[in-house]
Amino acid sequence: MSKRDYYEVLGVSKDASDTEIKKAYRQKALKYHPDRNPGNKEAEEKFKEAAEAYEVLSNPEKRSKYDQFGHAGLGNGAGFGGHGMSMDDIFSHFGDIFGSAFGGGFSDFGGFGGSSSRQRRRHVNKGSNLRVKVNLSLKDIANGVEKKIKVKKYVKCQECNGTGAKGGSSYKTCPTCHGTGQVTRVTNTFLGQMQTSSVCPTCGGEGQIITNKCIRCAGNGIVKGEEIITIKIPAGVSEGMQLSLRGKGNAAARNGINGDLIILIEETPHPSLIRDGKNLLYDHYISFPDAALGITIEVPTIEGKARIKIPAGTQPGKTFRLKGKGLPDVNSYGKGDLLVNINVWTPKKLSGSEKSILEQLRNSNNFAPNPTSKDKSFFDKMKEYFNQ
Ligand SMILES: [Zn+2]
Ligand SMILES: [Zn+2]
Repeated sequence: MSKRDYYEVLGVSKDASDTEIKKAYRQKALKYHPDRNPGNKEAEEKFKEAAEAYEVLSNPEKRSKYDQFGHAGLGNGAGFGGHGMSMDDIFSHFGDIFGSAFGGGFSDFGGFGGSSSRQRRRHVNKGSNLRVKVNLSLKDIANGVEKKIKVKKYVKCQECNGTGAKGGSSYKTCPTCHGTGQVTRVTNTFLGQMQTSSVCPTCGGEGQIITNKCIRCAGNGIVKGEEIITIKIPAGVSEGMQLSLRGKGNAAARNGINGDLIILIEETPHPSLIRDGKNLLYDHYISFPDAALGITIEVPTIEGKARIKIPAGTQPGKTFRLKGKGLPDVNSYGKGDLLVNINVWTPKKLSGSEKSILEQLRNSNNFAPNPTSKDKSFFDKMKEYFNQ
């Protein structure tokens, strides 16, 4: 693949000023910044391409060679020369660009993201994450649901378009660093001259300072506000799961990178169905005569009701499985089942006539317990349950 024209990469004209080039690069770098595009290879390539273009066009000598001879004029001496350029190179060479783009020193709202291992990236101003709880019924969980929630948070100040400067343009070049965002100190040591540069303390690395702060946001670029956010919750989620909506948390000071919105799932218990993973459990009592004679019962499901035919001679503890009447699995296909456990109700009080009928049945042959291997014992069923 042939190399793209550097002016084209930054989207500036051939006679663009240094300021225009810097500004154009800043915009590209922000757009394709790895913090904004995690795991996006294409964005990373664009980010590198822009850095390479800026490296050449911001240097008068390299720029003039490039203008005369194109890419060939730069030969192998062109900085980090394209393919070999790593993200660390970019951050160490142009860290001040990010510092100036994101502004510094705004700690009230979460301030700097602390996760980065790169020194330079400490300048990236990040909004803090927000957490909200969302209560879901089993029906919501079974089908997936879209919820609209109102979130109170810091939002971009519309007055200054997030810049913090009155009218969005009340800046002047920093008098301490003359716009570079860096201060360099040369000290003489017995090893020779040592040069150290650090972030300019006056402008916090911005290179420019706000001469007239936006009144509405006091120069922060963000204000308290709220947003209605639509959350799509997939089917099959469960209590304690978290969903993360990138960039929907608190806005960052002066057009930095927004925090995330973390959604914590809470389950509202169903009045009669108990969740067990993707299966649902339901306990149903039938009378002693119904167990002996058979009956059709109605059981609740998530969507309504289902009928089950209980055959004559059903033993207590028998489980009926309604295939596919459970919940979907959030990570795979297929649905769980509804397991209906049948209990037989033994009367606790008996009238005189009820008693005498049962007395007659007491010694009847058919009423004497005679379990076969089909009438599995409680222990067999427990073994089966834990091995499934
Ligand atoms: Zn403002
Ligand atoms: Zn400065």
